[in-house]
Amino acid sequence: MENLEEILTLVSWLKNSKFTTVLTGAGVSVPSGIPDFRSKNGVYSKWGQEIFDIDLFHQNPDRFYEFAKQELIKMLDVEPNEIHYLLAYLEKLNIVKGVITQNIDNLHKKAGSQKVAEIHGNVRTWSCLKCGKRYDLFNSQHKEFLIDRNFRCECGGVTKPDIVFFGEMLPLNEYSKAENWAKESDVFIAMGTSLVVYPAAQLPIYAKHSGAKLCIVNKNETALDDYADLAIHIDLIDFAKEVKRYF
Ligand code: ZN
Repeated sequence: MENLEEILTLVSWLKNSKFTTVLTGAGVSVPSGIPDFRSKNGVYSKWGQEIFDIDLFHQNPDRFYEFAKQELIKMLDVEPNEIHYLLAYLEKLNIVKGVITQNIDNLHKKAGSQKVAEIHGNVRTWSCLKCGKRYDLFNSQHKEFLIDRNFRCECGGVTKPDIVFFGEMLPLNEYSKAENWAKESDVFIAMGTSLVVYPAAQLPIYAKHSGAKLCIVNKNETALDDYADLAIHIDLIDFAKEVKRYF
């Protein structure tokens, strides 16, 4: 096994950890079949980054709804993979105390993680911008209703998924939870993220300043590899399978 020595180092940190926090990014969902938005086959190459621009959404919600029907809500049919299940399992073992995710695909919760901070929101629920009514796409009646009415609420208002668009603030409660977890950690793992999107990329820095050991697990190099105590470049599924053997 390549990287075995590094994995064993991380395993020993985890076994001694009282508070591990994991930050996950797009790379964790790729093996489930959700391409990184920024990649060659990702959402942005087809729809442009502006598909998540809040001003354009208000100007022309129907373009966004077309995208939602073709791509976004299909995310909710996707299944978690070994990485999501590993993190849920490590939470059960009382090692992982929180998963912070930049992903909006709901997969950590679907895999059974309870303590999840979704700092960019979750595409599962949609809210009416006029009356505030909330729709849950795991409820088939809600889902059919929204799709039939081209995502207009029963009051006629436009609805928007509870995710963070460009030009919007992060959900304060989710982000402050994430920040607190980062500061409390003795081990902090950033996984499947290139650590270029702020403020998420700030979290490993808070953790390390607060005394955590910082480990980065990613297929490619990241912006913080030199800053980390351990950087493991590996296929994430291989990583998850190998780590699972020790718990
Ligand atoms: Zn409404």
